[in-house]
Amino acid sequence: RIAYVDGRFVPHNAAAIHIEDRSVQFADAVYEVWGVKDGALLDSDGHFTRLERSLGELKIAMPVGREALAEALFELIRRNRLRNGLVYLQVSRGKARRDHAFPGPDVKPCVIATAKRVDFAALVKKAETGIAVKTMPDQRWARCDIKTVSLLANVLAKQAAKETGAQEAWLTDRDGFVTEGSSSNAWIVTPEGALVTRPASNAILNGITRRTLISVAQGRGLTFEERPFTVDEALAAREAFITNASSMLMPVVTIDGQPVGNGHPGSLTTELRTAYQDSAVAAAHK
Ligand code: PMP
Repeated sequence: RIAYVDGRFVPHNAAAIHIEDRSVQFADAVYEVWGVKDGALLDSDGHFTRLERSLGELKIAMPVGREALAEALFELIRRNRLRNGLVYLQVSRGKARRDHAFPGPDVKPCVIATAKRVDFAALVKKAETGIAVKTMPDQRWARCDIKTVSLLANVLAKQAAKETGAQEAWLTDRDGFVTEGSSSNAWIVTPEGALVTRPASNAILNGITRRTLISVAQGRGLTFEERPFTVDEALAAREAFITNASSMLMPVVTIDGQPVGNGHPGSLTTELRTAYQDSAVAAAHK
């Protein structure tokens, strides 16, 4: 495996950043994850636009232009002979002596990227059975819209879910509404057949898969409601699923051990999974 570190391609097991890179002490960094299908970056522009936004919110300068960065990612895909998988990109504020306030302008952002193979057949199989989710209070900070590597609350939530045999945590706000998953956006299909997901705000990461799926759903004339929903409403829903770049759409078949609908992946979920794939692949950047 080959990794990218600040403009250079290096063997993955020798790839390293400095111990005083600000991502290490402060999680002062943002990241993006692209799905890769047949060597192409899925939803490429959406992820670059969100990267620029995350960097802007943290006042980290875009280290190189979007085109140059995309070129680096394609080179990484080529050097890893990656067909299907994921590309991870992280940009930190750079290396500086430990001090909470930003370093001076001479400190340049540090860019790293890795590529990972994903077993597509295994993912398809998983989508045929669906996953279990566990609900728990959302303990994250107030800027979940920024895709930072400060993911400790997400890590603890995913682990707590895993320890109960679930594959994802659904996080709930103080009023009992689901914000999102620990690494995904949350969706339900109401008994009337409406597709529901929480509106983008500081409380969630506006998923690129989420946004693409909204336009796919609207293109198909489906009833779409962008509003918060409670755990109780999700338990009474006909279908539920999550979205993210690594699993695209993944059906949710139980919530806290209770079946959703008939306890099997929903038909609209399955239909949308195919529709999303077709649209994402068609729009992929090669
Ligand atoms: N919410 C959170 C907290 C996430 O970590 C992710 C995945 N990075 C998502 C939502 C989904 O975003 P995307 O569809 O862009 O992968």
